[in-house]
Amino acid sequence: MRMYDLIAKKRDGGALTPEEIRWMIRGYTEGTVPDEQMSAFCMAVFFRGMTVEETAALTMAMAESGDTVDLSRFGSLSVDKHSTGGVGDKVSLIVAPLTAAGGLKLAKMSGRGLGHTGGTVDKLESFPGYRTAMTGEEFLEQTERIGVCVTGQSGDLAPADKKLYALRDVTATVNSIPLIASSIMSKKIAAGAKNIVLDVKVGSGAFMKTEEDALALARTMVDLGRACGRNVTAILTDMDRPLGFAVGNICEVKEAMAVLDGADVPDLREVCLTLAGRLFTMAEGLSVAAGREKAERLLDSGAAKAKFREWIGAQGGDVSLVDHPETFPVSAFSREVKAPADGWVVRMDAEEIGRAAVLLGAGRAVKTDAVDWKAGIVLCRKTGDPVKAGDTVAVLSAETEERLNAGCEAFAGALRYGKERPEEEKLILAVVD
Ligand code: URA
Repeated sequence: MRMYDLIAKKRDGGALTPEEIRWMIRGYTEGTVPDEQMSAFCMAVFFRGMTVEETAALTMAMAESGDTVDLSRFGSLSVDKHSTGGVGDKVSLIVAPLTAAGGLKLAKMSGRGLGHTGGTVDKLESFPGYRTAMTGEEFLEQTERIGVCVTGQSGDLAPADKKLYALRDVTATVNSIPLIASSIMSKKIAAGAKNIVLDVKVGSGAFMKTEEDALALARTMVDLGRACGRNVTAILTDMDRPLGFAVGNICEVKEAMAVLDGADVPDLREVCLTLAGRLFTMAEGLSVAAGREKAERLLDSGAAKAKFREWIGAQGGDVSLVDHPETFPVSAFSREVKAPADGWVVRMDAEEIGRAAVLLGAGRAVKTDAVDWKAGIVLCRKTGDPVKAGDTVAVLSAETEERLNAGCEAFAGALRYGKERPEEEKLILAVVD
């Protein structure tokens, strides 16, 4: 086989066989297929697409390119959750203990912040001592014992995807549905869970800007999971606004704990209950309504909060911060942003808000940057809320005045105001199963 011929076949609109795809991915992982040929192939896929069979073969080839996690000891109870990335997305911090409190087994590898979006691993490291690197045996043992373990991505999980994703990132080939779907699902399949819920974000702060593209991505991922013997449900959720009010690491952890304590953060609570409910439905064969009721019971009874404390402690995190969130450290500088006139918040640009949080120090401009866990944004108003001139609409925090100025500048255009109350936006846009 020659890579040249496979590139030409795809360029001309042909479909590769599973053997050809396996050969190409093996060669790319081992280094016998060079970056320049793989780049050309990705660009051909970008324009020509892939058939269902090609996408499935690519997913499996990447899933099998490194270690796989064997969760078979948990039978049908193993669950996983994935978000395509959003701003203020602290859903995993709530869904993980919630499902564990209900008897499910969530052994999850999470990512760090990427671009303007946050990552669960960074948020969890807000707890000093929290271990994000564990051995395979520790990972499984903790999941068996308490029902939940969340670490960073193991170095050798789907290494073909790791290499390919980095290449796509610099060759303008990220935004292709078969390439995104196979990238996400190869990692989910290698991670081993039987039941997977996908939170596909749609809107200004998401990868997928339109509902149509998000639906196509969701359908492809659900079908890929099914073809590999997994139960998969995708929920399309709004990302035109950040989720909840907090954007940053410590402030998001505090907000997640407040929801676990019963605070009413309606959009965040709703997404968490929808996702957790679907995991109970898939894992235990419950109706959608019964899965949702179970999730609600566990959240409202405090069982999920108790499990959260157990989980953070089991992974070495300082649980005194769970008991006394007011003792988390705070930034040296903060500034209130005020509404310019009476009216309504009619639009928020979630991507601009995410970028402002990165400039404050909550995320990274390049991979090697250190994160400032204290930095972030707490919104006081969201789309659809009335404002009076001079009302505080957000509080921004950073460790230096330079960072605070940069964050405030980026945030300045993120909220749009109008004289009329805007139409209510839907939060849960669709369910694909
Ligand atoms: N997230 C992934 O893991 N892969 C993609 O291609 C896009 C988002």
